[in-house]
Amino acid sequence: MNSLERHDLPLSKIPKRWYNVLPDLPRAPDDYLDPANRKPVGEEFMERLLPKALIAQETSLERWVTIPEEVRSAYGLWRPTPLFRAHALERHLDTPAEIYFKYEGASPSGSHKLNSALAQAYYARLEGIDRLVTDTGAGQWGAALSLACARFGMKALVYMVRASFESKPYRRHFMETFGQQVLPSPGPHTAYGRELLEKSPDHPGSEATAVSEALETVRQNPGDRFSMGAFANHVLLHQTVVGVETREQLEQIGKQPDFLVASVGCGSNMGGFAFPFVGDKLAGADLEILAAEPAACPTLTAGEYRYDFADASGLGPLARTYTLGHDFVPPPIHSGGLRYHGAAPLVGLARAEGILGSRAYAQKEVFAVGSLFARLHGLLPAPETAHAIRATVEIAEECRRTRRRAVIVFCYSGHGLLDLGAYGAFTAGEMTDAEPYESVAAGDPVFADRGGR
Ligand SMILES: *Cc1c(COP(=O)(O)O)cnc(C)c1O
Repeated sequence: MNSLERHDLPLSKIPKRWYNVLPDLPRAPDDYLDPANRKPVGEEFMERLLPKALIAQETSLERWVTIPEEVRSAYGLWRPTPLFRAHALERHLDTPAEIYFKYEGASPSGSHKLNSALAQAYYARLEGIDRLVTDTGAGQWGAALSLACARFGMKALVYMVRASFESKPYRRHFMETFGQQVLPSPGPHTAYGRELLEKSPDHPGSEATAVSEALETVRQNPGDRFSMGAFANHVLLHQTVVGVETREQLEQIGKQPDFLVASVGCGSNMGGFAFPFVGDKLAGADLEILAAEPAACPTLTAGEYRYDFADASGLGPLARTYTLGHDFVPPPIHSGGLRYHGAAPLVGLARAEGILGSRAYAQKEVFAVGSLFARLHGLLPAPETAHAIRATVEIAEECRRTRRRAVIVFCYSGHGLLDLGAYGAFTAGEMTDAEPYESVAAGDPVFADRGGR
């Protein structure tokens, strides 16, 4: 029997439209607030920040949004992506459950992030914007945006969390190869960066410090706009190309998902993968949507649902969502893409409305499952993705105990070939669990009785 079974879509099936979940949610998202007066942000504030097309998408109530032909054609570099059935993992776990995964690791930048990066670079170019400025943690978003901007003839400036800038140079070299500028955060190039360095010269930086520096730069240069790798509604909209394809592939093989699982740092792969199924769930389908988080930064699992800043300095708008506090600096775990204090507001809303649940996992159990998956299937998952696999394994084991033939589908958000340093530390037995939070589960009816782990 095969280790993997592959279900492809023809090139002509690259979706023509993104799916916008806003009109289907039980309530409207709360307004973004202006940090100056705590009133809903005005047009002027937003237009100084983002390309106009993206501002319009942020609040659009159109259920289907046409994907520009240029973006669709760029998607053709690697889309449609395959849906695989993980027979070997099913056999290894001796579970009656069927395990499928949507493979976003084939993207030229290595993760799902390119789905939105290409759209953002395209709209910015169309509006005559000079440069997109952004923040990146371990570098996946910076890499995607650098590639996308090069593809559409745009400039990008990337503030990269200093700890990664120094200790994980490969993605920085990737960005520079695409001709883009990368600066460490905190760094001497902004007033905020200088202030932080004065107080603590060894500041390792965080996503939130990098966002602050990017926002300060955009404020000072009229030709710049800010670009977000996750968080905003328009980013999740672009990512729905993943879920729209997944639905089509499952229909093609006559399967309906019982569980949809994705890792959540901010929520862009979760939103993109699962939102196209939310209508089914709200219409009564028996479907669990589950977020897998690091116990070091369990935003949905242990955070509070309230207004907070998206950045450390409070320059950007306030949003209502799950947050661990905008000044929370997560410990330096190896899943850099999951170290963010706040969830995307739409994912936060879905969690608050009981549409999705979450679980958090410690880093060693995650790498153990990531290594197991690589050996069984020949695909080495990103540490972020390994969180989703960890949750999938837990569900599949529960299915073994209850003899449930559930269909579990997870989002394989990216490959781990630039994370071999972390796998090396795990294999050498040098990895530690340094989580400030307990491993916990929340809003998760399947495990509601287990009271944490
Ligand atoms: C960035 C990243 C994530 C987490 O970001 P989300 O916005 O939550 O999707 C997950 N997996 C990979 C491979 C990433 O690069």
